[in-house]
Amino acid sequence: MSGPGSYLIGEEEKKALMEVLEAGYLYRYGDKSNPQFLAKVCQLEQEASRLLGVPHTVAVASGTLALWAALGALGIGPGDEVIVPGYTFIASISSIIYARAIPILAEVDESLTLDPEDVRQKITPRTKAIMLVHMLGNPGYIDEIREIAREHGLYVIEDCAQAFGATYKGKFVGSYGDFGAYSFNWNKTITAGDGGMLVTKSKELYERAFAIHDQGHLPLNQGIEQRRRTIIGLDFRMTEIAAAIVLAQLKKVSLIKKELKEKKRRFKERIKDIRGLSFRTLPDPEGELGTLLTVLFPSEEIARKVGEELGCGIVADSGWHIYNNMDHILEKKVVDSVGCPFTCPYYTNKGGKVEYSKGMLSQTDSITSRAMNISIGVSDSSERGIRAEFGIIITSDESEIDRKVEQFRNAVGKYL
Ligand SMILES: *Cc1c(COP(=O)(O)O)cnc(C)c1O
Repeated sequence: MSGPGSYLIGEEEKKALMEVLEAGYLYRYGDKSNPQFLAKVCQLEQEASRLLGVPHTVAVASGTLALWAALGALGIGPGDEVIVPGYTFIASISSIIYARAIPILAEVDESLTLDPEDVRQKITPRTKAIMLVHMLGNPGYIDEIREIAREHGLYVIEDCAQAFGATYKGKFVGSYGDFGAYSFNWNKTITAGDGGMLVTKSKELYERAFAIHDQGHLPLNQGIEQRRRTIIGLDFRMTEIAAAIVLAQLKKVSLIKKELKEKKRRFKERIKDIRGLSFRTLPDPEGELGTLLTVLFPSEEIARKVGEELGCGIVADSGWHIYNNMDHILEKKVVDSVGCPFTCPYYTNKGGKVEYSKGMLSQTDSITSRAMNISIGVSDSSERGIRAEFGIIITSDESEIDRKVEQFRNAVGKYL
């Protein structure tokens, strides 16, 4: 499995990396007057802010840590509940657990993102935030989720790990919520192998998140303010090396989106006449990224048979992306919200025990068991992944697309 950016690593990334190595300074902080210090992490933060239209950015070591820092900056902790979809990568859920808060799993609808109706059902007096995951490059129902959050006084954290470059109503995802979190892991839109980033409109939240990511320090110029330390932080800073590569990849985001969308359009055009086949809902068809073409079959039986023909799992078989297969939280592992997340086997909160069990999200189960991900830009054959073994990649040419379309039509033709 790897994302579209990984296929485009070339001269630009090499040049950016060599520039840092030749200058010989690899640490994110430095003295402006030192010619060796190129301030790549700061430059990435500024360019990302400009591109995404959000004033404050903190580069970090991973998307998981970006989510965790967002939760920490918002003061979410023991006893608090965070609503999160049952179809997402485990990191959305584990970051909540590591904040000592309680993940409350909610249904997805045919967009494979949070179902606003079910979010409403899951709100309790303990709810503090909604984590909206823009799954598979597809922006979720941002307006509806923000409206619910406004009505109930909740925070919105946008998990944009799979959606760097996606937009909703003309603005980038991540720019709507209290925080937007991104990942630069190998499987995402753009990559440095690993890495992550947080964006926020609030200066205060930015300073808190920055402090969490670096020993409680506040940012100052291209370094840190040494004296005022208001909170205790850890260290998950980004290095100059990672930032140089992400900066080179950042320039390829619009190309990636354009290529993916063109290829996806070609694929979709050629299969959309198939009777009985439908597609995932796109809350913003223009803005979505095009990394996956998700199709829905009339029944699980047909989805599985077509999957077998194509050597491809269905969405319900996704490894650590669907709650049913997250052995991390199942098997009656509930966790004590004031206990240690490594060792404590139970989640409890003031409202009692929260348990996770297979089959608890029937709508999510019914949709994901009829759905199949066709790769456009994120192919994946790992057991832990999103099960997009069949499809194309960003570098596939038209004849390759047409060949895959034929193969798909032949497989589907036997059952539909
Ligand atoms: C990849 C991913 C993350 C975590 O990002 P890492 O950089 O791998 O830590 C979080 N949420 C979702 C939805 C993801 O796909």
